[in-house]
Amino acid sequence: MDAREAALRQAHGHAVRWLASLDDRRVPARASVDEIVRALGRELPDAPSAPADVVDLLASACEPGLTAFPCGRFYGFVVGGTEPAALAADWLVSAWDQNSVMRAASPAYAAVEEVAGAWLLDLLGLPGDSAVGFTTGATMANFTCLAAARDAELRRAGWNAARDGLTGGPAVRVLAGEDRHMAVDLALRYLGLGRPELVTADGQGRIDPAALRQALAAGEGGPTIVVLQAGDIHSGAFDPFAEAVGAAREAGAWVHVDGAFGLWAAASPRYAHLTAGCADADSWATDAHKTLNVPYDCGLALVRDPSAVRAAMGLRGDYLIHDEQGDPVDKVPELSRRGRAFTVWAALRSLGRSGVGDLVDRLCRHATAFAAGLAATDGATVLNDVVFTQVCAGFGDDDRTDRVLARLLDDGTAWISGSTWHGRRVMRISVSNWSTTDADVTRSLTAIRRASAGA
Ligand SMILES: *Cc1c(COP(=O)(O)O)cnc(C)c1O
Repeated sequence: MDAREAALRQAHGHAVRWLASLDDRRVPARASVDEIVRALGRELPDAPSAPADVVDLLASACEPGLTAFPCGRFYGFVVGGTEPAALAADWLVSAWDQNSVMRAASPAYAAVEEVAGAWLLDLLGLPGDSAVGFTTGATMANFTCLAAARDAELRRAGWNAARDGLTGGPAVRVLAGEDRHMAVDLALRYLGLGRPELVTADGQGRIDPAALRQALAAGEGGPTIVVLQAGDIHSGAFDPFAEAVGAAREAGAWVHVDGAFGLWAAASPRYAHLTAGCADADSWATDAHKTLNVPYDCGLALVRDPSAVRAAMGLRGDYLIHDEQGDPVDKVPELSRRGRAFTVWAALRSLGRSGVGDLVDRLCRHATAFAAGLAATDGATVLNDVVFTQVCAGFGDDDRTDRVLARLLDDGTAWISGSTWHGRRVMRISVSNWSTTDADVTRSLTAIRRASAGA
């Protein structure tokens, strides 16, 4: 066995043991950053080491500092898990090491991106000839879509941003609901567009279409982008797309949707109604590493008019081999990058159409079970309308809610993050892992009750 194969076998063993440990281990990490640094050692060795020994050291030193993100009882942030076919395919992505810039360089990558892209548009109910770009996450997917939006809106006003930049050009108005995700603000910052104008949202975070209409009417009809949201990170709520997209359309604005985890509702016959009207937008950002459960990292930038994203992101290089029909590089901000579509293809091929719908339904069913369990828990109050995968609960006053959260983390059965929602501390449960079972939810609710009883 050569050194490379020995290292791969070690990695395989460690990976399998890690995955097998997920059901029983504490969800939070046991060791601190400093402890892991000490276990790794700070000194860069002078001499080479055998690859298998390096893998061993890495795995054994890091093991106590790993958080069980892929465990069925991790409900923090919105993280997703690792669906088996996608995880295995991701190993191949590293071994194959395909550069996914050009069609001509890796026909295999280009083919898989084409097939996976078409499946995605179909499942999400979006126009079939939209561009599908594979980015690192939803932040970069929002960035990519909003770059296409910015340049298209400026072009409509007779300004060529790709050639002349932004200085001296018409102002671009960006309107977003007050409860938009901060990744939208970050993407706008990258784009030199500053903060969005905020439009009133209701108690669940849904943009108020009348307020949007009014704000649009107050403008002069110049370059305008409206950012809507599919899935509020606290309530899970969806913007009223039919009305909001209609209002934006009448004003001639570009409509973009941040649907990092929520856009996937469209893939479930039961929950697709939440996204009604969403397909009439111009662009959509979502993640594959959240609801679809591919390993990090993978976001999707979906743009109705492929020429708009190509104008913003495409490039031509003398030493590159370009394809008439456009290359993967024309739909994303980066040049060299890993073959993310392989992993997405594997997840979709493994789940099939019904499997993706069932996955969404299951996540929602667990969220509903959490809400019912919390409603029946002394001292707990469910604060949102649970329409999708998100549940927010309070435990009396802010201090008590924080004590419950701290005790729960200490207990280690489940990992749930706190947040501040509408000025109030909340326990924020996000169900996003394919492997979460009914038993996981029951175990986690028992742990929450234990934490609450002692707080
Ligand atoms: C997670 C999330 C983002 C950011 O996505 P990343 O993949 O972390 O870049 C943006 N918007 C919403 C609604 C999200 O939930």
